[in-house]
Amino acid sequence: MLHKLLIGTLPLLPRPVMRHFAGKYIAGETLEQELAKLREMAGRGFSGVLDILGEGSSSESHAREAAEAYIQGAEAVAEAQLDTYVSIKPTHLGLNKSEALALELFGLVAARCRDLGVFMRIEMEDHPTTDATLRIYEALRPEYERVGIVLQARLHRTLVDIENLAPGPVDVRMVKGIYLEPAEIAHTDPSSIRRAYLDCTRRLLTRGDVHLRLATHDEGMANDLIELMADFEVPREDYEFQVLLGVQEQLWERWKLEGLNVRVYVPFGPEWREYSQRRLRKNPELFKAVMRQMLPA
Ligand SMILES: Cc1cc2nc3c(=O)[nH]c(=O)nc-3n(C[C@H](O)[C@H](O)[C@H](O)COP(=O)(O)OP(=O)(O)OC[C@H]3O[C@@H](n4cnc5c(N)ncnc54)[C@H](O)[C@@H]3O)c2cc1C
Repeated sequence: MLHKLLIGTLPLLPRPVMRHFAGKYIAGETLEQELAKLREMAGRGFSGVLDILGEGSSSESHAREAAEAYIQGAEAVAEAQLDTYVSIKPTHLGLNKSEALALELFGLVAARCRDLGVFMRIEMEDHPTTDATLRIYEALRPEYERVGIVLQARLHRTLVDIENLAPGPVDVRMVKGIYLEPAEIAHTDPSSIRRAYLDCTRRLLTRGDVHLRLATHDEGMANDLIELMADFEVPREDYEFQVLLGVQEQLWERWKLEGLNVRVYVPFGPEWREYSQRRLRKNPELFKAVMRQMLPA
């Protein structure tokens, strides 16, 4: 109860306090800070994902600026020769304004990424955007080989979406799904979501021609996934776990020691505050530390 009440105060926390704790989850506000964090991760043996914080662009010009920022990000990681790809929310590129705009902008970023040899992933947001996001992915696939999608285990529809993917190779980041969706269309309890994640992964493996990126910090589920990959004789070098910067680092260190590939999602950008609040809501221990910092000694 108290935790819930205090969570409500997050938007009121002073900027320097939030910024201090956000440092665990984001690289910073600038592309230079992002590159420095990606290099640090590479030095520790982890490949990277470049993400610019932002969603729901407020105007076409904001969406165009976001696409341009992603192009600059792709150019920077190519120049730095980092094993990093770019990962983009559809509404950051204007899907909330129009599907045609988002398709155009994803096409622009994909074309530049192709020239640079950088992979681009289209992320998945809440359920009203799922159909359009899948249409954009399918529209780009024939032209751009190095484009991937995210699928959410939480949604009932995902098993059908897997069946409906056009033939040919697919690169899928499998996630539980971060958006709390209505019970009519989604699993809501943790064990059903876990089961659905395994079912979707199995369905993708049965479909074949899939590069699987397993995004999770759920160690128990990850153990089941490792077994599943072995059952399908997928060698460890052919798949990877994906994790969020600052979340369960000991787990990824262990995975790395066990010979598993781990890729770290490293967000940055001026719109860091909302993202950090979401992370703090998820992490009671860190949240308590923030609160302690706020109270007089
Ligand atoms: C690389 C990556 C990309 C993602 N992309 C998308 C996307 O495009 N669309 C989408 O809907 N979702 C995305 N997600 C989020 C995903 O859907 C889940 O909400 C998130 O990964 C938490 O689920 P989990 O599998 O880690 O299991 P959980 O059971 O939620 O978490 C396992 C443990 O990890 C810790 N933990 C997990 N997440 C956090 C967090 N954010 N902050 C602090 N601690 C945490 C918790 O302590 C928990 O005990 C992404 C996740 C990752 C790792």
